Amino acid sequence: MEIAMVCTRVNLLILILSLCSPYKFIQSPMDFGPLNLLPTTTAASSDFGRIIFHSPSAVLKPQSPRDISLLLSFLSASSLSKVTVAARGAGHSIHGQAQALDGIVVDMCSLPSEIALYRGGGGGGGGGDISYADVSGGAMWIELLEQSLKLGLAPRSWTDYLYITIGGTLSNAGISGQTFKHGPQISNVLQLEVVTARGETVTCSPTKDAELFNAVLGGLGQFGIITRARILLQEAPQKVKWVRAFYDDFGTFTKDQELLISMPDSVDYVEGFIVLNEQSLHGSSIAFPANMAFNPDFGSKSSPKIYYCIEFAVHDYQYKNTNVDQVVEAISKQMSHIASHLYSVEVSYFDFLNRVRMEEMSLRSSGLWEVHHPWLNMFVPKAGISDLRDLLMDNISPDNFEGLILIYPLLRDKWGTNTSAVLPDSGSMDQVMYVVGILRSANPDEGCSHDCLQELLHRHRHIADTAGALLGAKQYLAHHPSPAGWHQHFGPRWERFADRKVRFDPLSILGPGQGIFPKGN
Ligand code: FAD
Repeated sequence: MEIAMVCTRVNLLILILSLCSPYKFIQSPMDFGPLNLLPTTTAASSDFGRIIFHSPSAVLKPQSPRDISLLLSFLSASSLSKVTVAARGAGHSIHGQAQALDGIVVDMCSLPSEIALYRGGGGGGGGGDISYADVSGGAMWIELLEQSLKLGLAPRSWTDYLYITIGGTLSNAGISGQTFKHGPQISNVLQLEVVTARGETVTCSPTKDAELFNAVLGGLGQFGIITRARILLQEAPQKVKWVRAFYDDFGTFTKDQELLISMPDSVDYVEGFIVLNEQSLHGSSIAFPANMAFNPDFGSKSSPKIYYCIEFAVHDYQYKNTNVDQVVEAISKQMSHIASHLYSVEVSYFDFLNRVRMEEMSLRSSGLWEVHHPWLNMFVPKAGISDLRDLLMDNISPDNFEGLILIYPLLRDKWGTNTSAVLPDSGSMDQVMYVVGILRSANPDEGCSHDCLQELLHRHRHIADTAGALLGAKQYLAHHPSPAGWHQHFGPRWERFADRKVRFDPLSILGPGQGIFPKGN
């Protein structure tokens, strides 16, 4: 064991000298003793966005959290080193957030996926005896869903897509249609195991090393690497009633969304999207197995007409003595959608949560998954949502838009105030804010290569800047081209974020791909 440790340290020293040397000599696959350090891979230099391609000098494929701890303790001890380290989950970032130019990428997916489940006596419904899962940081949410359903349990808060990692979403927030009810994923974590930039392994929670716990949640990979998380579970429903209703008026659409989130005892999920064109209607309906007879007139190029769709869902288990259809009927009677354009289906809970996988498979089969994704996500105060819609329509042409524009409301009080996540400043006392996601594809094979992509990125930056300046919006999964942009992004929270960096990663080793704390600054 000791020999192995010495070997590892010698190899790390060679690695660091190599990384700092003008003559990089990691050219071919090599085994760094017990630490599985490899030269760069294509995956480590890329991500879902396909916009930034920064090659690291090496990729660590950890076999246990101890490998990560060894690497970071060695790097932080050699303070002359300029080496940076990025944890990479499933690499579903848009702007190179999990990349490390000339540094080391830690491939979290190579950690063995360990999932231990605990069923509390209270059935996960609160009280002292709660249900939870201990999951490794590189495990994907789909794995946790599959395992927990075997015990009839499931996490409460989700993302729309499940082939992303626990550590990756907890470093942002993790939001979906359940967020209005249960808060983001970062509000549903009981404990974390984190390897800090100094290589210490710390188990933290709201009551133990709380500052690290809160820093890491929504912390954009800046303060430590999440190697394990304890996620709150609840009883899983067998089935879900999944409903869609269509609108031709934005004000009525948002009013009904806000009505739905005011009924958390009946409604379990609320989202919505803009129906810009045929593609946004059909592309988003692949997993929705109802025959929809909604064939609207989208107008002409010079005078387009757009529509809106609310999605909501009700879990069946709450209504053991009531028919779930009656519950949906009672809810929908209070809504003001276009008459007769409400559709519902009953699907298994698994299929409901895993719905985006069907879209992925469809896009993959037509070669449309691995294209550029210039996505922009924002949190927008309720007071500005109507202006935001106008801003979008001034900058997006429905006739050539490929993808989806999500809009749905969240409630501010479901978010803790101590995590690193950034929300719009609470200027008004309004609890409601909206998430707006421009989830756009740009296919080089259909003519959208370099210049077209740059034009889309430019437009999105204009939308983000204008929405920030005029409406108080904040980017989610943010990208800012300069540290000054980040400073502005955090606003009054900047000082706390920067203090946390000094405390937990004073050498700015971690998370270089975010561009918040350039090495040497
Ligand atoms: P990566 O892209 O690999 O990493 C993201 C950031 O987290 C990087 O800064 C990285 O360094 C850091 N990081 C990764 N792992 C760790 C770790 N273990 N410890 C510390 N830092 C770490 N998000 C939502 O909230 N809701 C959605 O509904 C949603 N839907 C999506 C659908 C699709 C198709 C895609 C592509 C993305 C979606 N996202 C959604 C965004 C997604 O949550 C983020 O991109 C998330 O970061 C992806 O996780 P990942 O494992 O791919 O992380």
